[in-house]
Amino acid sequence: MLEIVDLHKRYELKTGRPVEVLKGIDLTVPDGSITAVVGPSGAGKSTLSRCISLLEMPSSGQILVDGRNLSELSGRALRDSRRSIGTIFQHSALLRRITVAENVALPLRNLGVEHGEMEARVAELLERVDLLHKADAYPGQLSGGQAQRVGIARALALRPRILLSDESTSGLDPRSTHQILRLLTELRADLGVSIVLITHEMEAVRAAADEVAFLDHGRIAEHGRVADLIGRG
Ligand code: ADP
Ligand code: ADP
Repeated sequence: MLEIVDLHKRYELKTGRPVEVLKGIDLTVPDGSITAVVGPSGAGKSTLSRCISLLEMPSSGQILVDGRNLSELSGRALRDSRRSIGTIFQHSALLRRITVAENVALPLRNLGVEHGEMEARVAELLERVDLLHKADAYPGQLSGGQAQRVGIARALALRPRILLSDESTSGLDPRSTHQILRLLTELRADLGVSIVLITHEMEAVRAAADEVAFLDHGRIAEHGRVADLIGRG
């Protein structure tokens, strides 16, 4: 379970003037649940995403995964904790000079997982996203939707408790978008992960999310069940 408690993020501008981008975010995403975060450009979605993926430290507040506060860690403990959060990026962010299988293996290799186990885990992950037949292909040979599914396999490699999807269906055709969203809903059910779906696409929210939080000027303006707030269209 992911719990964000009174999260603030301030940046210092070059003039020395502080700007507060996140102004006290409270958000809980239970296990096996998909919560969408939507909001206009400039609302703070990317900043919130970077805080959840622990790429940036919040100015104050807590990010709890299964009750453990990750927002005050540093060094080794921080690196270890990053594993509990898998991020799916907007443009898949695969390395183009290595194969699909090698991309998915990368997080495991960095962790020193033994070769045989690594191969088995990579095959299992590619199977899960229905792309085992592309194991030896290079990212340039994939469609946008396929690349995104490989990105999901890579995000799952370290068995995260939280999956963060940061505009992962932006720019995809409707069929690929549908496939990705269906995959996310399957993962939520099969693995019991908490999924945060950061998106500007209301169709994606309707199709996949259980709850939706509207972010505006660094605050959550509204949060509730998708069915109650925007209906199943
Ligand atoms: P969104 O993803 O919803 O478009 P962002 O999180 O990118 O919103 O940005 C929210 C606000 O925070 C914007 O006004 C942006 O200019 C500002 N901002 C984001 N990153 C920084 C930074 N590193 N330094 C100063 N201001 C920033
Ligand atoms: P995005 O919405 O994808 O974050 P932006 O163009 O808003 O795209 O931001 C691109 C990068 O610039 C981000 O890393 C963000 O943190 C940084 N950034 C955004 N706004 C500012 C700002 N006002 N001052 C400094 N850095 C900023």
